[in-house]
Amino acid sequence: MSRIIKLLSGLVLLATPPGAGLAHAKLTVVATTPELGAIASTIGGDGVNVSILAKPTEDPHFVDARPSHIVTLNRADALIEGGAELEIGWLPPLIEGARNAKILPGAPGRIVASDGIQLLDVPATADRSHGEIHAAGNPHFMMDPLNAKIVAQHIADAFCRTDPGGCPSHRTNLARFESAIDAKMKDWGHELAPFNGTQIVTFHATWRYFCQRFGLSCGIYLEPKPGIPPSPPHPVEVIGKMTAQNIKVILVEPYQPRKVAETVAGHTSATVVNVSQFPGGLPGTDNDYITLMDANVKAIASALRGSR
Ligand SMILES: [Zn+2]
Repeated sequence: MSRIIKLLSGLVLLATPPGAGLAHAKLTVVATTPELGAIASTIGGDGVNVSILAKPTEDPHFVDARPSHIVTLNRADALIEGGAELEIGWLPPLIEGARNAKILPGAPGRIVASDGIQLLDVPATADRSHGEIHAAGNPHFMMDPLNAKIVAQHIADAFCRTDPGGCPSHRTNLARFESAIDAKMKDWGHELAPFNGTQIVTFHATWRYFCQRFGLSCGIYLEPKPGIPPSPPHPVEVIGKMTAQNIKVILVEPYQPRKVAETVAGHTSATVVNVSQFPGGLPGTDNDYITLMDANVKAIASALRGSR
């Protein structure tokens, strides 16, 4: 891929209009994934233009690198990434191709969401030899709304550094987002409280932080390891565990193979539930983190109620 990226980055330089590197009235912000982009829009308001690289229906570990991504990154004042190696498989060559000093590692415009987050599932020794994609720990921390508050603070701090004039507005928007999360945490906690300790099965370890926050248990996966597709005998082992422990709910995300979940559900009388880590991954959740989490909580609580 690097040869293609080099070629594309040459084209970017040719296509970049004169003056494109000068200061913009609005901050041009790029987020790797849609939930980070949604929070950037919430905090930045009218002061930012936000572009998002990954689609809500794409696996964030395996995003298709496109020439348009390099152009987008070339023009960015700030880049927000998940970190914890979430984007390690696709982002570095795009950044190399974009040739933009503002978003290089360590630059004020480079915002790493995982900074200051207590990661789960950090292995004693990083092992990528079998295609393991959580070698730095579990990068799906945004599914805990309290982590989303921490990331929103990072984003507000970075916007204030990059755009001091817009800082009062960013701080007001941050306070409003924090209050909204605090209010919703009560509703979400109330909705999920009856299922405290209940086991659910998920395709990927996306829901570890969510489950920990809301008192559910989700340590059984349809994937044998993060990033490794299910193959025999793993699904049979999952069916055995679900039967033994009376587990009745399986979570799948838009880009995961629903058929595998349905096959396992067919053997266990379980319900397959559509959830998403990204705004826009479920109907009616476009570009809003809180609306997305509302939809996730409702879908999971409804399935758990129905399985009693
Ligand atoms: Zn993952």
